[in-house]
Amino acid sequence: MTKIKMVTPIVEMDGDEMTRILWKMIKDELLIPFIDLKTEYYDLGLPERDKTDDKVTVDAANAIKKYGVGVKCATITPNAQRVEEYKLHRMYKSPNGTIRAILDGTVFRAPILIDGISPVVKNWTKPITIARHAYGDIYRDVEIRTTQKGKATLTFTGEDGTVTSEEVYNFECPGVLLAQHNKDTSIRSFAHSCFKYAIATKQDLWFATKDTISKKYDHTFKDIFQEVFDVEYKDEFEKLGIVYFYTLIDDAVARVIRSEGGYIWACKNYDGDVMSDMVSTAFGSLAMMTSVLVSPDGNYEYEAAHGTVTKHYYKYLKGEQTSTNPVATIFAWSGALGKRGEKDNLPELAAFADKLEKATIDTLEAGILTKDLTGLWEKGEVKAVTSLEFIQAIRQRLA
Ligand code: NAP
Ligand code: MG
Repeated sequence: MTKIKMVTPIVEMDGDEMTRILWKMIKDELLIPFIDLKTEYYDLGLPERDKTDDKVTVDAANAIKKYGVGVKCATITPNAQRVEEYKLHRMYKSPNGTIRAILDGTVFRAPILIDGISPVVKNWTKPITIARHAYGDIYRDVEIRTTQKGKATLTFTGEDGTVTSEEVYNFECPGVLLAQHNKDTSIRSFAHSCFKYAIATKQDLWFATKDTISKKYDHTFKDIFQEVFDVEYKDEFEKLGIVYFYTLIDDAVARVIRSEGGYIWACKNYDGDVMSDMVSTAFGSLAMMTSVLVSPDGNYEYEAAHGTVTKHYYKYLKGEQTSTNPVATIFAWSGALGKRGEKDNLPELAAFADKLEKATIDTLEAGILTKDLTGLWEKGEVKAVTSLEFIQAIRQRLA
């Protein structure tokens, strides 16, 4: 069999623990036999990050800027216990945070749906993709707890010396205060990423804030989205027959629950935090959520939404065969290969990405499942398999 050719490399970021084991299985069984795989490899596993003082993460992010497409394995974000466990020189920051800061992107998360596992919300027949703004608001706030009477004011001093001041509240008793901020540049790049992703995936885009109550803060989000849409994306949306829809956040929540899915829901930072957990739980399993970081200048980084599945890795180290679900990691690869095929105009590569997804879904729908899914299965007979058996069942279908 002749292997499918590639032109430009994909930036490959290896990772940690159980997902690192799955990573190799996926490459050996599902990619290398079929593709002349061209990647630029960065080892983001914790030992290598430690050895390079985290330079490898920065290099990987810059490589995504150069080549436009990356695929990342889950990685450990070290805490005190990990510093001890891996004898680290320091407590490195989250690799995803580092990559996001360099690419300045928006994270889109979407569930993988299969026939045989229904979402808790029975009318959700298509995936709902959450796009979360990843800068500012309550995540960068300043807060004060007051224990006496007194007056709170919000003051802005412009660089030309102009002072704008608003009374927040004249406290007659103890209370609490907070101030939040966001930046036009960040909101604008969030908007661009969302409109571009809607076009790339040919889905409607929903966005919601509380602009009727927050007449300056939230209203600015609404205005910037509308302006960016009108100036740059309206014609393309019309051509594709997709819609940009803005509403209030409470109305959006009600409509999401009543909907059949099949759109992108752009959320402010806090809304995205809360709603992505609700949506992923209602769709079934974290192991079936894909995640892609899209930068405003059109670079894509694909990964699974879950972590390194530490508990399974400790079992693996004891010599046990685990039944860890590799689906989201397989879809990270198919996402990256599909995008590479599209960018380089390689229809064979793009078609392979589709076939890989179809073979994965067909395997699941035949009732061949990892243990995390067997309890959710609704179609009678089910076979719980190990990760390797699952991947080999996909390979048979692919071949
Ligand atoms: P996790 O790795 O997502 O796993 C949490 C639990 O969810 C697992 O113990 C397992 O439950 C279940 N699970 C998750 N993915 C699964 C899969 N593919 N197949 C089967 N079950 C799966 O989260 P965590 O244990 O909180 O974090 C572990 C490490 O991952 C941490 O060091 C964290 O820093 C890192 N992390 C990385 C990323 C990333 O790179 N994007 C994201 C999140 C966390 P059972 O044990 O009940 O089977
Ligand atoms: Mg959260």
